[in-house]
Formats: sequence, structure tokens, C-alpha cells
Amino acid sequence: MKVLVAVKRVVDFNVKVRVKADHSGIDLANVKMALNPFCEIAVEEAVRLKEQGIATEIVVVSVGPTTAQEQLRTALALGADRAILIESNDDLNSLAVAKLLKAVVDQEQPQLVILGKQAIDSDNNQTGQMLAALTGFAQGTFASKVAITGDTVSVTREIDSGLQTVALSLPAIVTTDLRLNEPRYASLPNIMKAKKKPLETVTPASLGVNTASTVTTLKVETPPTRSAGIKVKSVAELVEKLKNEAKVI
Ligand code: AMP
Repeated sequence: MKVLVAVKRVVDFNVKVRVKADHSGIDLANVKMALNPFCEIAVEEAVRLKEQGIATEIVVVSVGPTTAQEQLRTALALGADRAILIESNDDLNSLAVAKLLKAVVDQEQPQLVILGKQAIDSDNNQTGQMLAALTGFAQGTFASKVAITGDTVSVTREIDSGLQTVALSLPAIVTTDLRLNEPRYASLPNIMKAKKKPLETVTPASLGVNTASTVTTLKVETPPTRSAGIKVKSVAELVEKLKNEAKVI
């Protein structure tokens, strides 16, 4: 079974981001970039399926600038077999990314596509769902457990009221939640081996996809800084302040 995993290059989660002076976006100059954490979980899940003898090939795909090759190499070091970079310097919205991924799905014909539930830079949480709509594949979002039996994938989903388990006919799309697995670290030998694994570069034009955006970012701002809290001496004082100052009870 071929598994396709979509991975995004994002600002490392440890970095405190800075908004550009003109409020047009985030300043990415000299900022540490990394594989989106939910995409790392997606790669790990595919590698585990391969280790179980269920997946036969893992293809990773990323849409982004030339530098996104670094994140594809990381995914290869974690155990993916080959990589595809859809090279674009544009700030593409989710629908454009989903259309590009659909073109790769058409070419590669994977049985399972794994994506992160969300990219931590834009927090869109929609690419997997849009890809499911475009391909007509079944979708299991926010997965905390994935099990494949024959041509069905059982996905346990993290929902507000608890855990929901759904059975999807393959081919299917799964998006990963935090508790699905704990990704491994790439070993040095595997990082070296990853340098020799195939990495193909294509463009939106070569895939015949129009990536024109229908969404324009008007302004990006830092959240207002929180004012300092106060310590109260007693429960009575707390209740009094909640009642008369905060007026929340
Ligand atoms: P989002 O809908 O943007 O929050 O992203 C959800 C998931 O879609 C990510 O975790 C990736 O698996 C995939 N994805 C989003 N953007 C890209 C991209 N530029 N390249 C590859 N995969 C992407």
C-alpha cells in the first residue's frame, strides 16, 4: 500500500515570531524553520505502517520554496522513501495547496494520504478536509489511533465529547492529532542516507493547477500584551472582586 504524506515547512514552534513593521505578515528573516509538528506525527504514522508491513512505499510531498527541501530531507531521514517538492514562493491558501495535493494524488494513486490536522503557522485546519472533498476520498480527521484491516482504515477521532471511531474505505485521508504517536528522532546514519533518497521538484504549472488566491491577508498584528494579575488575600476578596470589579458573577 502506498502512503502519501503532506508536510509543511513552518517557523519552529520554539521561536517567538515577530510581525513585520508594515503588518503584512511574519518576519521570516533568519528565523529557524522546521517540519510542522503535526506533519512529523503524520510521517511517524506512515513509517510505523511500513514497519508493520502494511505500507510498502511512503512518498512525502511539500508545497513551498526551494528551502522546503530541508523539511523533505528530514521526512526522508525519518523513514520516507521519496519526496516531491511542489516549488512555489507564493503564500498559497489552503484551497490552492489542496488542489496541488490532488494533482499529486492523481499521479501517485496512494491508498492512504496522511496530513497534519493543522499547520502551526496559519492554523487553518482545512487542507485535509479540502483534499477529501476534491478527491472524493473518505476522511478521518483529528486521529489519535489508526488501524488498517484489509481495505478499511479505522480512525479514532478526538472530538469535544470524547473519542469517536469511524471506519473508512480506502483510499482515505487521515489528519493527525497530537496523541496519535510520539515521533522518533532521525539518527545520524539515517540523515546521511536521506541525502541520497530521490527528491523530485515540480511546479504548480507543470501540474496544471491554477493557484490564484481568493483570499487576501489584510493585516497581521501581535496579540495585545496581557496586563499583570493581582494576588488576593482571601476567597471573600476574590468573590468581591469577581462580583464588583470583573462583574463576571
Ligand atoms: P492547514 O490546513 O494549513 O492547517 O494544514 C493542515 C495540513 O495540511 C498540514 O499539517 C500539512 O499536512 C498539509 N499542508 C498544509 N500546507 C501545506 C504545504 N504548503 N505543503 C504540504 N502540506 C501542507
